[in-house]
Amino acid sequence: MKIKFLTVKKKALYLIVPCILSVCAICAACFSALPAAMPNPLHTVVIDAGHGGIDGGVVGSTGVKESDINLKMSKILESELNSRNFNAVMTRKTEAALNNIKRLDMQARKKIIVDAHPDAVISLHVNRFSDSSRRGVQVFYDDTGIGKDFAQAMQSYLNENINAVYGNRSDYEAIGGDLYITKCAKVPSIIIECGFISNREDERLLLSEDYCKDLCRRIGEVLSSSFGD
Ligand SMILES: [Zn+2]
Repeated sequence: MKIKFLTVKKKALYLIVPCILSVCAICAACFSALPAAMPNPLHTVVIDAGHGGIDGGVVGSTGVKESDINLKMSKILESELNSRNFNAVMTRKTEAALNNIKRLDMQARKKIIVDAHPDAVISLHVNRFSDSSRRGVQVFYDDTGIGKDFAQAMQSYLNENINAVYGNRSDYEAIGGDLYITKCAKVPSIIIECGFISNREDERLLLSEDYCKDLCRRIGEVLSSSFGD
């Protein structure tokens, strides 16, 4: 499948305050041999499940914590990427944080990223906004780094295949910022806010296995298109 790089329509750029800015800013391989028939080299993607432990992130009307959604989504994405012959490295695999002190937790995540020598970093989060009508998936990148093109490609594809499909949600453009987790390695590194927990319908989707699998499949398609030969 062909990903339309840099064909993001110039629609309204929503200046929102995502969880990564309101909450996360403060918190913020082994290679197995490829089958002979696989022509592509094995690429490594670090999957970072945002928050964890005492830092639950944002909370939905049902009481569900962002950290739990992020972990569930990360495990689904791990399976998706493994099925695509990526080497998926997780920063956390349990509900616990890597350290109870936020600064040390983030440093531990950075060490995992650096040690993995990844080709890309995907940090998964859930968004919250004061306007409960705001919906959809948004992608963020380090505006001083090299992740912009990858972020734009991801956002454009998710606009078309996720945001437009689930309730005709908004088209967004990828948004640059000063975001710790996207600065840990000099490779395309993005944060994907998987939906707005402040919107009831988005919250329902985030709790739905089908939505999570569909979103992760689409993320996997962009990664395969970007890193496949
Ligand atoms: Zn978050």
